[in-house]
Amino acid sequence: MLPRRFNLHRPRSLSEVFGLLDQYGDDASVYAGGTELLIALKARVLHYPHLIDLKALSELAAIEEYDGDVVIGALASHHRIATHPLVRGVVPAYADLSDGIANIRVRCAGTLGGNLCFAEPHADPPAMLAALGARVRLHSKEGQRDCAVADFILGDFETARQPGEVMTAILIPKPAPELKAAYRCYGAGERPAAGAAVAILPDAAGNVAAAQFWIGAVSGQPAALTATMAAAGGKPLGELAEACLAVAADEIAAIAASDDSHGSADYKRHLALTMLERALAAALGGEARAERMRA
Ligand SMILES: Cc1cc2nc3c(=O)[nH]c(=O)nc-3n(C[C@H](O)[C@H](O)[C@H](O)COP(=O)(O)OP(=O)(O)OC[C@H]3O[C@@H](n4cnc5c(N)ncnc54)[C@H](O)[C@@H]3O)c2cc1C
Repeated sequence: MLPRRFNLHRPRSLSEVFGLLDQYGDDASVYAGGTELLIALKARVLHYPHLIDLKALSELAAIEEYDGDVVIGALASHHRIATHPLVRGVVPAYADLSDGIANIRVRCAGTLGGNLCFAEPHADPPAMLAALGARVRLHSKEGQRDCAVADFILGDFETARQPGEVMTAILIPKPAPELKAAYRCYGAGERPAAGAAVAILPDAAGNVAAAQFWIGAVSGQPAALTATMAAAGGKPLGELAEACLAVAADEIAAIAASDDSHGSADYKRHLALTMLERALAAALGGEARAERMRA
């Protein structure tokens, strides 16, 4: 099916974008790569009489280090993130994750900002970004604000983005070089049915100084395994799996999930625990690259 008719706007500056959003209100939507929005328009699930193409705002595709953060422009594609020397060098676990998203066509056109703003529940980035303490930057004509990724995704296709706001960047605090992080996911199709992200900071004695364990794609929001994080505190790295996985099993069993086309709620929870076990082993073993598992 073809989308219903729309007017296309190609602004050259953010202030032009804000002007258009002001002028057309709910009748307008911004878009970047269009990999999600165009599918919804073609299926006629969504319709906007005015589409605002952000691609001319090339400054929003920059990737740079600034003030202790790796700053990824919202318009940076997954492929560019996966292959960027700064991301690969400083946050290799996130570069690996980007490299496993979808297929090369979607990775080249789809942006990280579009992924987060669409909030499709079967997505890879949110859990790993939450584990890394990342935040998103939103601009509107009133100014700018930052929001933790964990607070930005509110549920299936629902975010904390307000009308008139445009996501301009994703900021990942530059991790300590000794951070051990990894993401593992499984999906029978191109999107993950379940994913798990782990980030462990060891102290000088080889015990856990801080740990983050997050589950993605099983429910509408990335799920923090807070009891598992607490159980990990102070443990020697070699005893971490033993100390954490039983606690994690109980926490994952309590994640609110529903049956969908990716599997039953129980199946996705089961996968999540297996992915957590693998992510933990990968992080501690220091494997360089993730292999995305497919059926
Ligand atoms: C076949 C296929 C397989 C996929 N597999 C995976 C996968 O394995 N893992 C995964 O994580 N994802 C997967 N995806 C999702 C993919 O990551 C997203 O489609 C892509 O990142 C969306 O980016 P985009 O720029 O194309 O968004 P668009 O389609 O341009 O926009 C999506 C939504 O975000 C809004 N938006 C976009 N940019 C901004 C901005 N800067 N500020 C405010 N709002 C904005 C738009 O208004 C729209 O509502 C898959 C998608 C497809 C089609």
